[in-house]
Amino acid sequence: MRIKSRNIITIIAVALFTALACTSGEKKVFRILTAGIRHESNTFIPYLTTADDFTILRGSDATQGRAWAGYLEDEGVEVIPTLHAIGGASGVVSKETYEAFRDEILEALRAAGSVDGIFLDMHGALHVEGYPDAQADFIKRIRKIAGEDVVIAASFDLHGNISREFIDGLNIVSAYRTAPHVDGEETRTRTVRLLVEALRNDFLPRTVHISIPILIPGEKGITGVEPLKSLYARLPEISGMAGLMDASIFVGMPWTDVPRAGMSVQVVARDDKYLPEARVQAEALANAIWEQRSNLRFDMPTASIDDAIKTALESQDTTVFITDSGDNVTAGAAGDGTLVLERLLAYKVPDAVLAGIVDPEAVEQCVTAGVGTTVNLSVGGKIDNVFSKPVEITGIVLRITREQPDSKQPDAVLQVDGVTLVLLSRHRAFTDPAHFRAVEIDPLKHKIVVVKEGYLFQALRDIAPRTIMALTPGFANQLMENLEYKHVRRPVFPLDPDMIWSANNLTHN
Ligand SMILES: [Zn+2]
Repeated sequence: MRIKSRNIITIIAVALFTALACTSGEKKVFRILTAGIRHESNTFIPYLTTADDFTILRGSDATQGRAWAGYLEDEGVEVIPTLHAIGGASGVVSKETYEAFRDEILEALRAAGSVDGIFLDMHGALHVEGYPDAQADFIKRIRKIAGEDVVIAASFDLHGNISREFIDGLNIVSAYRTAPHVDGEETRTRTVRLLVEALRNDFLPRTVHISIPILIPGEKGITGVEPLKSLYARLPEISGMAGLMDASIFVGMPWTDVPRAGMSVQVVARDDKYLPEARVQAEALANAIWEQRSNLRFDMPTASIDDAIKTALESQDTTVFITDSGDNVTAGAAGDGTLVLERLLAYKVPDAVLAGIVDPEAVEQCVTAGVGTTVNLSVGGKIDNVFSKPVEITGIVLRITREQPDSKQPDAVLQVDGVTLVLLSRHRAFTDPAHFRAVEIDPLKHKIVVVKEGYLFQALRDIAPRTIMALTPGFANQLMENLEYKHVRRPVFPLDPDMIWSANNLTHN
């Protein structure tokens, strides 16, 4: 009896406090559920991506130390973190993997009860086996549970391939504004800030989406050089216009052979009333991009692999970085292509680093043989057995290293004639000096440094005296006309170079 009356007193006290808080202008505590499936799916590589290829974060692990989560916390938002699956770039995602991620998120959404907003941390180039457009499926199912009034905001990598069906389910869309990317966390924070702004002001934002028929590799979509530099500079300006909240330009991901692949623009209106203005701005931006399509070019010298090696050997520069762009790991290629290794050995280069070739079996053989041992190995060409084949080498095992001190799988560094070869247990790219430190290599002490990426990532650009992009064959071929497209929309530039297009009078929303 006593307990019961104490409960009643508590209820009355809470009710009184809430009433007082409301009348004194206290902010409502918004409930925002967070989730994400981030993946950049390359459809050309015969590799099926599974859950093991993702870093899966749940609950507070997904929010800990994240700037966007810190912002929400500072704003007094009740954050309900669910599953955040963070993957890099690799082959198409298996049906089973996607459905398990999706269903876990949907279940958490059902369990969360009523929410005011949803934040989705996406890449935008997800492609799943058996689904024409898994991202559209994902948002449709979320919307069905959440209802039409819940504000859904999603952040993206600008290499996403975005469809209208996907955008239709979202209220707020915001993409990175830098490539090479240096604004990932900034974009996610901007997205949640816009979401909170919409909730506080009772806006129900709408996004205008215009798909532009341009298919370019990211290497022609560098935001720091013209013409994209000026085009991206318009985004903050558009975002600041009356009734508009944000604007994005997607460069797209050309190694996903799907109709939605390619460039697009989005402008977010704070509600239906401002949709016409958002449309005017989106059309102007899309037309401006279209007019510049022929000026979207590589921002670094390109060459065949043979010419790249010859130029590097003759160069006065202390170190020349060569990117093996056809086997660009960051675009989902295999990472075990052997063409560059074979050519470096054929040229008998005196001092080169090749970082690295993915080959867990060869690493295992090096571990078994031990440091200081001479080993005969057949390396690489196992995943990419289309554009390359295994190469027989004889080398000395210099050391066994680990990506992180607690990494389960080791890597191996070998000396093969003049080539310091890094063999990797896991599909990954060397995009930062820290990655070289982990294998105890100072890249600037070597004449040639080969990495498996397209454009050189920013942290390496900062240190590279000179860079050449080698136009090598592979699952991330830079030359679009050499790819066997079956599903991309046609006509599309540059596959159909003479096509005519305008953003005006399209039936897009
Ligand atoms: Zn990207």
